[in-house]
Amino acid sequence: MDVQFLGGAGEVGRSAILVNDRLLLDYGILTATPPQYPVGDPDPEAVVVSHGHLDHVGAVPALLSGSSRPEIHWTPPTAELARILARDTLKLHGGTMQCPFTETHVARMGEVDHRHGYRESFEAAGHEITFYNAGHIPGSAHVLVDDGETRLLYTADFHTDDTRLLNGTTARPDADVVICESTYADVRHDDRDAVESRFAETARTTMWEGGTVVVPAFAIGRTQELLLVCEAHDLECYVDGMGTEVLSMCRQYPEFLRDGDALGRAARHAREVTGRDGQRKRIADQNTVIVTTSGMLSGGPAMTYIPEIRTDPINRISLTGYQVEGTPGRELLETGRCELNGGIYPVSAKADLFDFSAHADHDGLREFLGAYEGSTVLVNHGDSCAAFAEELRADGYEAQAPDLGKTVEC
Ligand SMILES: [Zn+2]
Repeated sequence: MDVQFLGGAGEVGRSAILVNDRLLLDYGILTATPPQYPVGDPDPEAVVVSHGHLDHVGAVPALLSGSSRPEIHWTPPTAELARILARDTLKLHGGTMQCPFTETHVARMGEVDHRHGYRESFEAAGHEITFYNAGHIPGSAHVLVDDGETRLLYTADFHTDDTRLLNGTTARPDADVVICESTYADVRHDDRDAVESRFAETARTTMWEGGTVVVPAFAIGRTQELLLVCEAHDLECYVDGMGTEVLSMCRQYPEFLRDGDALGRAARHAREVTGRDGQRKRIADQNTVIVTTSGMLSGGPAMTYIPEIRTDPINRISLTGYQVEGTPGRELLETGRCELNGGIYPVSAKADLFDFSAHADHDGLREFLGAYEGSTVLVNHGDSCAAFAEELRADGYEAQAPDLGKTVEC
């Protein structure tokens, strides 16, 4: 089996892996200015998508240009998320050099759309493929690829712990080769229950004191998780931004959730913001929790709420995930200032980070790989892939961190 890394090698973003020159696993975007796309110019017979995050599925419509119509295989939630993300990319960058596809390409996805559940094997470009729950976001999958000689497990992004939204991964199918993500290979997460309690306690205190809590959250997975947390702790809340649309989508596929009824209760508990008639400014004056995109304060309705609440130290901004360097969220945590709608402003409201991560940490990755001691491990999707591969080699694994563009024969 030949495995070529067209993206996501030694980096987080633009994941793309070409197998035997005919089967593509993921085809993502690296969010930057300008955005970056996988290298090479693949023309695969089929594409298998692990999950509906921009860095794994964002560039898929571009594969449907000219007369190319590769089959696209994914779970139903991933198919829906791919459309939501493609529309968002068109809205942000459509018609510019920063967007490699048009409405026409997005519409074509319907012609080649093949949906599969977990543990239902199917054929794609001459390979037998099986999805397993990866516990990362709704519909996320580990992808097992069998070409008749070699069994390759592409972990893609995964979480070993249960969250309120999803069960953690438990499947460990036999594999000769494992391509393993390493986003948090050098991190140990705090205990989830402790993070959640601290989040709920600080939010409640802020509301008692007469303040507002703005909770920037990624649209996919994180918004829904935070609504579940709010419902469980009886925190009055609003939900705003793209996470609302994703919430409705998730509720249509309860079999891809840990507890569909719980998400239904959380959705009814939260009040949906339409944004009409100055509604956001009025809500920003209330003693309430507002769960809203974007998760790193780089756009979305958060850009209306933060300016409204920033000057009063009673208010609180509870960030809910890793803040990439250079984002306003990171700047806020490090400097107490924040770029908002083009200007830099001081923020007196309290700002904190709560690590509601959807990725396995160092110990989770090692626990997962404990099932693959005799397999070849190819480390990708991280900022320190080489260091993690070296750690694995020191512990007896056959492991390496391939460079961008490299082909590994396995
Ligand atoms: Zn992901």
